[in-house]
Amino acid sequence: MSKERIVIVGASHGGHQSILELLSRYNDVDITLFEAGDFISFMSCGMELYLENSVTDVNDVRNFSADDFPQPNVHILDRHEVTKINADAKTVTVVDHATNQTTDQPYDKLILSSGVTPKSLPVPGADLDNVFLMRGKDWALKIKEKLADPAVKHMTIIGAGYIGIEAAEASRKAGKEVTLLDVIDRPLGTYLDGELTDILAKKLTAEGINVQMNAKITAYTGDQAVKAVKTTDAEYPSDVVIQAAGVQPNTDWLKGTVDLDDRGWIKVDNYLRTNLPDVYAIGDATLAYSIPAQTKVPIALATVARREARYVVKHLFEANPAEPFKGLVGSSALSVFDEHFAQSGLNSFTAKRAGVTVAKDFYHTTLRPKYVPSDKGNPDVYVQLFFNPTTHVLLGGAVLSTYDVTAQGNVLALAIQHGLRLEDLAEADFFFQPGFDRQWSLLNLAAQHALGEEPFTY
Ligand SMILES: Cc1cc2nc3c(=O)[nH]c(=O)nc-3n(C[C@H](O)[C@H](O)[C@H](O)COP(=O)(O)OP(=O)(O)OC[C@H]3O[C@@H](n4cnc5c(N)ncnc54)[C@H](O)[C@@H]3O)c2cc1C
Repeated sequence: MSKERIVIVGASHGGHQSILELLSRYNDVDITLFEAGDFISFMSCGMELYLENSVTDVNDVRNFSADDFPQPNVHILDRHEVTKINADAKTVTVVDHATNQTTDQPYDKLILSSGVTPKSLPVPGADLDNVFLMRGKDWALKIKEKLADPAVKHMTIIGAGYIGIEAAEASRKAGKEVTLLDVIDRPLGTYLDGELTDILAKKLTAEGINVQMNAKITAYTGDQAVKAVKTTDAEYPSDVVIQAAGVQPNTDWLKGTVDLDDRGWIKVDNYLRTNLPDVYAIGDATLAYSIPAQTKVPIALATVARREARYVVKHLFEANPAEPFKGLVGSSALSVFDEHFAQSGLNSFTAKRAGVTVAKDFYHTTLRPKYVPSDKGNPDVYVQLFFNPTTHVLLGGAVLSTYDVTAQGNVLALAIQHGLRLEDLAEADFFFQPGFDRQWSLLNLAAQHALGEEPFTY
């Protein structure tokens, strides 16, 4: 039997995981991955590490290189842009940007992981020099050059989501005057509720970042290069602007062949199949099925792309896939200077957007028993829980502390994924050791608090 020809579009998390899954599950596959860019597989998740010099060679910040797959049945081609799917012929049209040649390449199965591109704001001056975006190797190099340039004094970051916060922190650590602007009312406001963002906003300000929320950008001004960012009520001097204010799916090339929603996201069914036979789509270019929201929502995370790739490849050759894709919780973590948080599932903002009613509880405690002094490793810890007000099923949560409690975010993720209730979390059998936690573990106590139980004060 001839080998099944698998074509993958996009060499990032989704494409990488697809190759790994194909190689581990099947012997009789011939895999070709096309990547439009000239660098195989810059890991934007590691960009802050590069900008802050924790990793010094930009070429190291990658998921994989073609050399990682010497197998004769794996072909990884950069500068190869897929421009069209010819569903009837089961081929894709590919432009080789090195030679300018166009060819049609056959597939038996096609996996799309073409991802997203960051958006420029539609304001005057968006094309000025030194107005940057933050994704991929080329932007990483440009930003790093400016961070090292003493002539650059003022950096303005547009967008206070986690990418904007990473840009702001890296810029501040490089000694720049940093202004952080967002149109919403608080930094990280789509990830965390106000009780936690208040703590983080204070931290950003204490570290010298000029945090300006409710800021509507009207223009970037300057002659050739940007000099300032104008909002409806202020103007901020800016030698460099980094825009981290949203993304658009890389799906223009699919218009007219693959069904897209009105914002360009690829529509997939419960098996991650597109409308075309044997064509699947995963990762940021699709909306993800959220377990707590029980609907599809934007969750642009590497974790999502990799789990979807695993599911698609596992069921790739089943005429009727044995099970639908179970969905995801959506979990992320971030350090904001010395504050560390992890969040999972829904919060007030994402619940409202998904039309889900949530109750919530905010719990503030110390990490270890009361008798341990705070300067001996007993910092404040904060937990936010979101749950169904009637059934108490957990729908979301977050933890925050100067101590690294982010692993507790994964405990929350597991609880949400498996539909546990507050009552389950309140009694879950976690360890106690005073070097690490209190007589009841942090999430036990947070769930007990959410249930309105008598506070445990020891
Ligand atoms: C600064 C930053 C930090 C991040 N940090 C984290 C983190 O800590 N944790 C986390 O889980 N996620 C993080 N993310 C998100 C994560 O990077 C994305 O969710 C993930 O990369 C999505 O992978 P993907 O395969 O869907 O597509 P993408 O990473 O968007 O890659 C798509 C690839 O497809 C290629 N392509 C597109 N169209 C074509 C075409 N027609 N032909 C050929 N090639 C094409 C593109 O060139 C690109 O290389 C971060 C993102 C950024 C920008």
